[in-house]
Amino acid sequence: MDRYAVIGNPIAHSKSPRIHSLFAAQTGQTLSYEALLAPLDGFAATIAAFRAAGGRGLNVTVPFKLEAFDLADRHTPRALAAGAVNTLAFGPDGVLGDNTDGAGILRDITVTLGCPVAGRRTLLLGAGGAARGTILPLLEAGPASLTIANRTASRATELADEFARAGTLRPQGCGFAELAGQHFDVVINATSASLSDAAPDLPAGLYAPGSLAYDMMYGKGDTPFLVQARQQGAARLADGLGMLVEQAAESFFLWRGVRPDTTAVLAGLRAAL
Ligand code: NDP
Repeated sequence: MDRYAVIGNPIAHSKSPRIHSLFAAQTGQTLSYEALLAPLDGFAATIAAFRAAGGRGLNVTVPFKLEAFDLADRHTPRALAAGAVNTLAFGPDGVLGDNTDGAGILRDITVTLGCPVAGRRTLLLGAGGAARGTILPLLEAGPASLTIANRTASRATELADEFARAGTLRPQGCGFAELAGQHFDVVINATSASLSDAAPDLPAGLYAPGSLAYDMMYGKGDTPFLVQARQQGAARLADGLGMLVEQAAESFFLWRGVRPDTTAVLAGLRAAL
């Protein structure tokens, strides 16, 4: 049986085994998918053992996405743009590294939530790994503008400069205070502020009528960012559970050549939160 797994540290909390088992059952694919705990200094060795035991592919999560990038022999263009890898595929011609996080959030926003990005003023909060992986897919979606804002402003301006030639649109980078007086149709929180039960320190008035506030974080109930967004007039709120399911579906497609239907899987996970 073809073996797949998600590798990280910690990993016990991961929903990926459940998601991929549901995908496999739904598409009639025969495979196993497990959670693999790698020691912090033992990522490469854990992968080598998994491959030797017949492993075909891995999802990679915190803190190994950069090590996975270095380990891959070849990269997809979106993995190169992200500078990080969340999906590895093992084949006869070596290890392919991909990054499906950005495609996952774009699909969740535009398809599942039915919210267009094309032609809309888009704000991306954060300049870490999750933000970086989202920039190229966002630019490819054709927003009216893309602003990257971060608590440490220099990281946002550096990211914007790095992606200046990636599409026809040049992103703008700034700190949070410089957002004052601007209005956005799509606001994506890719900071980890919600992990410490905080919201980014944003000026009021950012949300245009009909705007979407999207937090990559997910869990029980609204995150502090979503609470803040509702208070400040965002018309629609969404957490990152859909992104999690969609990035998994992109990985499944890369490995198996079959695209699962994510609707029922997302509804089942949401009900179990
Ligand atoms: P990183 O550690 O790489 O980046 C953290 C970012 O958050 C930095 O830009 C940092 O700013 C900012 N930040 C941290 N605390 C605060 C705060 N209190 N106020 C404002 N900004 C803050 O994290 P990742 O990019 O890997 O992850 C970001 C989030 O995305 C996490 O919540 C993660 O769970 C989520 N995620 C969700 C996925 C999904 O499938 N739903 C997939 C991947 C990530 P500074 O530069 O100033 O330090």
